[in-house]
Amino acid sequence: MHDRAEALATVKQVKHHFLKMICFTSLAFTLLLFSTVQASPVDRMAEALRFETVSFQNAEKINYEAFAGFLAFIEQTYPRVFSVLSVERFSDYSLLLTWRGSQPELAPVLLDAHYDVVPIEQGTLQDWLHPPFAGVVADGYLWGRGALDDKMAVITSLEAVERLLAANYTPARTLYFTMVHDEEIGGHQGAAVVANALHERGVKFAYMVGEGGIVLPDNPMLAGKSMALVGLAEKTYITLHLTATGDGGHSSIPPRNNAAVSLARAVTKIHDNPFPVKLVEPVTDMLRVMGPEVGGLSGWLMRNQWLGASPIAHQMARDRTNNALVRSTSAVTMLDSGVKENVVPQQAHAVVNMRLLPGDNVDDVVASVVELIDDANIVVKLDSWGQSPPVADINGEGYARISEAAAQVFPESLIVPGMLTATTDTRHYQIVADEVYRFRAYRVSMSDSRSIHATNERLATDSLLRAIDFTEQLVLAIAKP
Ligand SMILES: [Zn+2]
Repeated sequence: MHDRAEALATVKQVKHHFLKMICFTSLAFTLLLFSTVQASPVDRMAEALRFETVSFQNAEKINYEAFAGFLAFIEQTYPRVFSVLSVERFSDYSLLLTWRGSQPELAPVLLDAHYDVVPIEQGTLQDWLHPPFAGVVADGYLWGRGALDDKMAVITSLEAVERLLAANYTPARTLYFTMVHDEEIGGHQGAAVVANALHERGVKFAYMVGEGGIVLPDNPMLAGKSMALVGLAEKTYITLHLTATGDGGHSSIPPRNNAAVSLARAVTKIHDNPFPVKLVEPVTDMLRVMGPEVGGLSGWLMRNQWLGASPIAHQMARDRTNNALVRSTSAVTMLDSGVKENVVPQQAHAVVNMRLLPGDNVDDVVASVVELIDDANIVVKLDSWGQSPPVADINGEGYARISEAAAQVFPESLIVPGMLTATTDTRHYQIVADEVYRFRAYRVSMSDSRSIHATNERLATDSLLRAIDFTEQLVLAIAKP
């Protein structure tokens, strides 16, 4: 019995050793695998999301170490790109990459992207399902600030070019890539500086392709069909600073003229009196292209806008997203007044952010707001980013080449011209590019697209892979003679 027990114990020990050996071997093998097999594009995108390249309005809060870290990361990760393309830095953190074409007589094309991101709004961090800068991949998504806006465009460009270089591809046309660092705070150090430098060198692009423009599988305007929206225009960004003054004093003997109340009245008037609904280019083009697909009476009205413009525009205005396509908009975004509960403030301050349709003039809009407020105690100051570029040509070469690439990678989608309701860096590039298109395609649902600048920004991993394929096709389409 004893012997038998001992023998059993020995067998057990041998078994244990054997298992341990297997464990060690598989661990060593796994480690070897990790060190020799390259990480996937998803891993690299996840890593890109871990750099907290946040653009704060208050420049003192910006952590430039994160920006330097991000640049070091991409340089290390895409060795072919950074050895074959010529690399220039502007304002320390913005990159301009030049990929010389074999036919220098062809006008070059610019692909623009930015890697700075907006901050996490205070008090919303706990609402994120995964931390915004952890680069988590879960449930088929890459989670994090910048997943959609706009590290996706930076990484897909790098992935596509790296892949093409590995295949010994050389473009016929020279391509420029910008990867700038301050788009979210106006682009004055990044895009503006790069564009000026290119302008001074006499560079003139055939056209440029910037951010914005997405593949929407579930836009209610085109039920049951995916649409690839190529941006021909974007809205103009302006901000109004309203300052109300009043008598102030002790709240036990309140004055009639209360700055906080005047200001509240003014912002309420602005909110309650939206800009008129109207159909302008390129939304008119968008509807014309969609009309045959939509069919029925709506489709007919879209194609026959001499009759259909007004009913369609009013129908669109009922939806929050589409509303921004058919009118200039205003949003009261900041309010500030008062220092103590028993002191009536002498001043009150509000910020109203506005987005104007192509064709709406900045000065006219400001004058109309002043007239609407109609209060001599309120001063309105304009802070303008400048008028956005004119509507790009739907018959231009750029639109044709983008459409060609989109048709290859998103064959299920109808290619539709559109307008970006947000504002990007493109206005800085107007001096070097007459035609500005916006399409760095990724497939995203309507609800996920609302996570841009909001909580739980996320990009489906298969969307990333398809966006890389698209960027590769886009480069091939653009770069040929
Ligand atoms: Zn952006």
